[in-house]
Amino acid sequence: MNLLDLNKCPRCRVNDMMHPEEINALSRMNNRTYVCSACGEDEAMLDFAGIGQREPWPINRELMDWRSL
Ligand SMILES: [Zn+2]
Repeated sequence: MNLLDLNKCPRCRVNDMMHPEEINALSRMNNRTYVCSACGEDEAMLDFAGIGQREPWPINRELMDWRSL
């Protein structure tokens, strides 16, 4: 991990994290790691669909949102 990666979401490696860390989404993967709000929404949809959080990070696909339903 280089310094530029520190501000990137650890889940998608695309979106920037907001500061302070606590205002980002708390990952459902472990309830300990903060992810960007887009990832928070993506995780919520996986749970809603009954799929759950089983992808290794960083995920390598386009994130889902409620508008794509
Ligand atoms: Zn993300």
